[in-house]
Amino acid sequence: MREVDKKALWKFAWNFGFKGMRSVQKFKRRLKQGVHFPPFLFISVINSCQLRCQGCWVDVASKRQMIELDDMNRIINDAKKHGNSFFGILGGEPFMHPQLFDILESHPDCYFQIFTNGQLITDEVAKRLRKVGNATPLISIEGSEVVSDGRRGGKDVLNKTLEGLQNCVKNRIIVGVATSVCQSNIDLVSEPWLQRLIDMGVHYCWFHTYRVVGPKPAEELALTAEQVVHVRRFAVEMRAKMPIGIVDAYWDDQGQALCPMATGISHHIGPSGAIEPCPIIQFATENICDEPSLYQLMTKSEFLRDFREQSAKATRGCVVLERPDLVRDLVTKHAAADTTQRQTALAELDVLTPRGSQHTPGEEIPEKHWLYRFAKKHYFFGFGAYT
Ligand code: SF4
Repeated sequence: MREVDKKALWKFAWNFGFKGMRSVQKFKRRLKQGVHFPPFLFISVINSCQLRCQGCWVDVASKRQMIELDDMNRIINDAKKHGNSFFGILGGEPFMHPQLFDILESHPDCYFQIFTNGQLITDEVAKRLRKVGNATPLISIEGSEVVSDGRRGGKDVLNKTLEGLQNCVKNRIIVGVATSVCQSNIDLVSEPWLQRLIDMGVHYCWFHTYRVVGPKPAEELALTAEQVVHVRRFAVEMRAKMPIGIVDAYWDDQGQALCPMATGISHHIGPSGAIEPCPIIQFATENICDEPSLYQLMTKSEFLRDFREQSAKATRGCVVLERPDLVRDLVTKHAAADTTQRQTALAELDVLTPRGSQHTPGEEIPEKHWLYRFAKKHYFFGFGAYT
């Protein structure tokens, strides 16, 4: 972090660190009054992408949908009024959004994490990211050359992605690497891989566990319960050992599972403007175009409320993986619209086999490193969702 551009470091510390913590305090105060508005919004700004990943749930090859600058400004300004300062930007591939930099530049008081395949981060793009200073690319790497091409449906995927990563490092931007851990790349959950990331100049990494969803769910890639515990144990141990940040959003400081959607700490807005419980639950009863205030739409949404409550009652883990039947029931009960362009989301749920998720009772692994214990207690505590 000593090599990072000063402005980027300041924006990270202030907009994300301090203001992010303050937004969680405001969220907790709202909860006491029974008002649910998440401090962390995840927004898929565009559906298009140049890759074709296995198990992707986004309609990347369909007609382009994207959230325009005016709508993004309206959403972000409304969220800012309620103390939010952090936004996750997803796609498709966010760097295909023609107004991405206008969005970043319009909100110097916010911090953006951009979930990207990294291939469009040229030296020029990285220079612009450095100039604006308020965004960190989180670049997906899914394994070796062969595994990356297979997982991501492209040619020479890894090298092109590494080029984007190197442009970030060269331009002294805070940069992370995300891996959706599955059967074909679980070998990345290893010390040598972390050391390689450190040597490349990566500041943080995030090991997601593969979600079996979407039109082609690739069930054979799903992790076993033991492998999920292995991913958790690895993160806890390496946090105390290696000089690299390791992110996760699925376990609290005591190692108990939680779901960011069920705790209410985050919800998702899709490229059509649909307000969804989380990125893989592609159903909605509200759209950002329904009325000017996102805050009003989210706090009044019976669909989101019921989803949070029923999911938290059913499991501490992932309701989609464990209880696709419950997801279906809630969608039907609220007559929620399928927000995909393919219009098959309900049929996809019907054929999903219920499976385990991050909730592995009896296998809780508490955080070892004081900083993560502290941060999780204040950021990702259960917020009473499971009591
Ligand atoms: S429902 Fe599953 S995928 Fe969605 S936020 Fe919860 S744990 Fe994550």
